[in-house]
Formats: sequence, structure tokens, C-alpha cells
Amino acid sequence: MKLNQNFEKLQESYLFLNIAQKVSAYQQAHPAGHIIRMGIGDVTRPLAPAVIEAMHKATDEMAHQETFQGYPPAEGQIFLREKIQSYYADRGVTLALSEIIIGDGAKREVGNIVDLFDADNEVLIPDPVYPVYVDTNLMSGRPIRYLPATEQDGFLPLPDGDTKGDIIYLCSPNNPTGAVYDRQGLQAWVNFALEQDAVILFDAAYESFISEEKLPRSIFEIPGADRCAIEFCSFSKTAGFTGMRCGYTVISNRLQIGGVRVNQLWARRQSTKFNGVSYITQRAAEAVFTVEGRRQIKETINYYRDNAKLMADSFRDMGIRFTGGENSPYIWHRCPDGMSSWDYFDYLLENAEVVGTPGSGFGQNGEGYFRLTAFGNKEKTAEAMERIRKLLK
Ligand code: PLP
Repeated sequence: MKLNQNFEKLQESYLFLNIAQKVSAYQQAHPAGHIIRMGIGDVTRPLAPAVIEAMHKATDEMAHQETFQGYPPAEGQIFLREKIQSYYADRGVTLALSEIIIGDGAKREVGNIVDLFDADNEVLIPDPVYPVYVDTNLMSGRPIRYLPATEQDGFLPLPDGDTKGDIIYLCSPNNPTGAVYDRQGLQAWVNFALEQDAVILFDAAYESFISEEKLPRSIFEIPGADRCAIEFCSFSKTAGFTGMRCGYTVISNRLQIGGVRVNQLWARRQSTKFNGVSYITQRAAEAVFTVEGRRQIKETINYYRDNAKLMADSFRDMGIRFTGGENSPYIWHRCPDGMSSWDYFDYLLENAEVVGTPGSGFGQNGEGYFRLTAFGNKEKTAEAMERIRKLLK
């Protein structure tokens, strides 16, 4: 008996543990302190009333013989997939229902999709990056090539003559940098993938933060993407579902590899290892698309957007370069005076009692950078910016 040796290649995930330990040590030493947390990318606002109402109704249905629901269909309830279909149609993207598969969140879907690909494929992952892409490929023993994302390219690297990779990860709006690809940028990646017979895994978990009309919210807005891309979406950041768990994967019928339709393979994989998202949760997700639901989730997104704008304005005033803040809940900025990410973490904690996330936790190219999130309380966000302004003045 042998364990999967690939797990030895994983680095210990010290990032959030280290943050928690440092914060707790600081709190013990300063019991009267008022720490403001802007580190973790979790949401804080409650669910929309329309979502709560839908859940109550669905719960009642489960209580009666005539309306009780057992196992849900593995690929998701038709009523929810139809809503997602029209959500895409509003943006000019035509999807068949078979192209939309419901899951319990983008993290699991992004992690599980690698089951479909041979271990020999070379993976291309931007750095800095959401660490799940790296770890899930290490676990399945796939070689990884890192694509540096730097301040020079606005943290939006493009393919060039030296770029190689069979599986390409793109995340836009990006975690951690907040950078968003425009149409031209995504088109360059789609063209590259089509030429190289590569697949793009496009993580659109933060698409609802895009407010500029000209920016693409789905890779399927780009011609040719249906033949080379898989898109992952989530209700987590869109509608505060981080604790509810619901998302979806979109794979066009036109994405075929060696004559095999990739969405059929994905449906086969899902139905083998997953028994679907709960009926109550899918009814809750459906409510996000009603007129009331849309209005209510927009209010919440605007709340976070206002925080992000306030943060972006503060950094602009302070003359600190940053990405994100617009079309994204993250602000990614260079640590002042050439400080390392962890030195700046300590400096902010000890002098402003503000907690953020050191950029080095997202990859080698994140060193010297820092991530703050707009998912917090409005007053506390304003207070944190005031403290940072005083400190860095
Ligand atoms: N993708 C990215 C880029 C994320 O930052 C996150 C969560 O922070 C996820 C996916 C996970 O989303 P979900 O809650 O749908 O699993």
C-alpha cells in the first residue's frame, strides 16, 4: 500500500494559518486594540430576502408528500439551468441546457475538472494565482509551468512565441490582483489555445463585479472560445453563497477532444462522484435571477463596490500603485519602501491594526505586494483607509 506520493509536492498552506497566528498573538499583547480585517476573501453581507423566501418555500415543499424531492439530477435542476441559460443570453451568449452543469461551487469544480485530463498534459498557470489551480495539479502529478504576471503587464500576461501549455488557467477578474482582461486579451488567449490545441480553464467567480460594459464577463463572449474553453462560475461572490455552496460549469458542445465531447465526460464524472446540489439550495440560486433577486443582489454588490472604490481612491490619493478596485473586490498594491509582503503585513498590523493578505502567499511574483479585500463593513473599510493614510503619509 502506498499513499499518493504527489501529496509530498504540496507546500504546507501556511498563509491563512500564519495570518491567524500573528493576529491572535497581537490581540493577546494588545487586548484593547481594534483590528480591522481585510484579509480573507469571504463575503459578510446576509443573503438577499428573495433567496431566503425561496429557501423557506423549498423547505416547506420538502415537508409534504406531494412536493418532497429526493436525489436531484446530477447535472442540476432544469429550472436553474434555464435561468443561467437566459442570464448568458442577455449577454449575447447562446447555450444549450446540456452545456450548463450545476455544482456546489467553483473551488470544487475547478479542482475536479483535472480528472478529465491525462497526467502528461503540461499546465500553464499565471503567478501570482488562486492557489487551488497549483495544488490540484500537483496532487494529480501534472507538470506545471508558471507564467509570470507582473506590474509591467498590468498582471494580465498574454501568450508570446515562447508560451507553451496544454491546460491554461485564466482568472478574470483576478484573485489576487483584481486585474481584468479586456476582449483583446482574452481573444489572444483563445487564438493561442485554438492554434495549440490547448484548453483554457476560465475562472469567472468574480464576474458580477465587472461594471464596465466593454469588459467581457464570460470567455464565451469571445469568438472561438466555445471550441477551447471551460468556464467556472459561482453564486458565492455574486449572491453571498459562500456558506450555501452553489456554482456551475459551462462547457460548449463544440468543445471536443479526440472526437469526445468534453461536457459529456464532465457529466459522466459528476454523476459518478457527486449526487448533486440540494433542492433547497438550487431553489435559492434560482431566486437570484428573479427581478427582485437581481435588484437585491445588485444592492449588495454595490455595497462592496463602494468599499472598493473608496479603497482605490485612497490609494490613488496616496500615490500608491495598485490594480483592481474597479471591476473587482480586490485591491492589489505594491508594499511601500520595498518592504517584503510579510514585513508589510507586520507593519500594518502593528501600526494601523489592519490585517491584509501578503502577496507572496499567491506565488513567487506576489512577493513585495499585498491584497486587501472590499468584502468588509463600510465604516470599518473607511476607518482602515484613514489609518493606512496616516501611517504611510
Ligand atoms: N475561484 C476563485 C478565483 C476564488 O477566489 C474563489 C474563492 O475565493 C473560488 C473560485 C471559490 O469559489 P466557491 O465558493 O464557488 O467555491
